[in-house]
Amino acid sequence: MRPRFSAALDTCRAGDRRFRIVSPGCICAAHVNRFVWPSHIHIIISRYDDFLFASASRFRYSRWQLVAFEPMSNKTEFRGELVRDIYAAKSATGQPVISFEFFPPKTPEGDHNLLEKTIPALMLAKPDYCSVTYGAGGSTREKTLMIVDRIQKQHGLTAVAHLTCVSATKEEIRALLEQIRALGVRNVLALRGDPPGGGAFTMTPGGFEYSNQLVEFIREFDHFSIGVAGFPEGHVACKAGKHVDWGYLKNKINAGADYVLTQLFFDNADFYEFRDYLREQGVTAPIVPGIVPILNANQIKRFTAMCGARIPVPLAAELDAIGDDEAAATEFGIEYATKQCEDLLSNGAPGIHFYTLNKAHSTVRVLKNLGLA
Ligand SMILES: Cc1cc2nc3c(=O)[nH]c(=O)nc-3n(C[C@H](O)[C@H](O)[C@H](O)COP(=O)(O)OP(=O)(O)OC[C@H]3O[C@@H](n4cnc5c(N)ncnc54)[C@H](O)[C@@H]3O)c2cc1C
Repeated sequence: MRPRFSAALDTCRAGDRRFRIVSPGCICAAHVNRFVWPSHIHIIISRYDDFLFASASRFRYSRWQLVAFEPMSNKTEFRGELVRDIYAAKSATGQPVISFEFFPPKTPEGDHNLLEKTIPALMLAKPDYCSVTYGAGGSTREKTLMIVDRIQKQHGLTAVAHLTCVSATKEEIRALLEQIRALGVRNVLALRGDPPGGGAFTMTPGGFEYSNQLVEFIREFDHFSIGVAGFPEGHVACKAGKHVDWGYLKNKINAGADYVLTQLFFDNADFYEFRDYLREQGVTAPIVPGIVPILNANQIKRFTAMCGARIPVPLAAELDAIGDDEAAATEFGIEYATKQCEDLLSNGAPGIHFYTLNKAHSTVRVLKNLGLA
């Protein structure tokens, strides 16, 4: 069985089966046959359970790095919908758009849990799309794309790739966008990002300073639906105040963004003030509240301190009373998020973007409470 590789060397066909790269660095030496590929590509290939392992000297990974392939499902041709079309279609029927945010796991076990357990459990709620974050400083660049690709092809769910300006030149971002397009991904969330390890953002020479410039650049591709971040309490670094920050958000929309996903917040009044201000300024794009069901009292205090979101006084008192009791925090989080979502949906929010923290239980329970799962 001689494998035939695609031009990008990320998929191959062996007999009547198709395979694609799962992750580099895996091989079972005991099951190796050796092939000599025409010209200078050497391939070691082996069947092990349902996986096909190969090594090639000309992979985009380092020389002779070992690469694992897995069989591709019959959803391999899946191309996501444009998120702007999803909001338009749901708005026409008066139904909310439900979306989930995930982060790329750090370990193969985390990948397995996300792709084989969490996402299948969440799929029962029939989400409209999901998004996958991009680690600080581009640290998860390949991983973000791998997860987005697998969600689309394995689960048939439209996925948005987050993308930031941190440590990247325009040409690097162009190459990344080409890669995203080649995977059949049609949606990106354009962000400035934060530097790894915190501190002030510094523009990479030859890169972008603000996300509106990134939006403009992506728009040139004429391929993607583009989302951007919005901050109902104002961005933490905008010392000129929230109205100035919201003005910059309007620049992103004018540059070509199709919709806004907000930072998490716990007081819906903040969201309404933000949304109404933007509407008065003529912004018509969907402004989608980002909601996190609290899982752990201390964790949410850390998150909010980092991103500048406010914990209202009554909520802080509840969290103090819950302390380290995770089960109580989870139940409380479900109840709080349900009330927030009920209120948002009955006051015209076009949908809810759930920060799932890569867990299904709380989000599914909230959706069930809302009669949406
Ligand atoms: C839904 C969502 C998803 C996110 N996903 C990720 C992720 O995957 N990876 C990641 O690293 N981070 C992520 N973040 C965090 C985000 O990258 C940071 O909050 C970052 O500091 C701001 O990004 P931005 O795109 O809003 O930047 P910008 O819109 O560029 O704004 C950055 C700062 O500059 C100011 N500003 C904007 N334009 C101008 C201008 N023309 N002149 C002067 N000041 C200006 C703004 O007020 C703000 O203070 C996410 C945030 C949200 C809400």
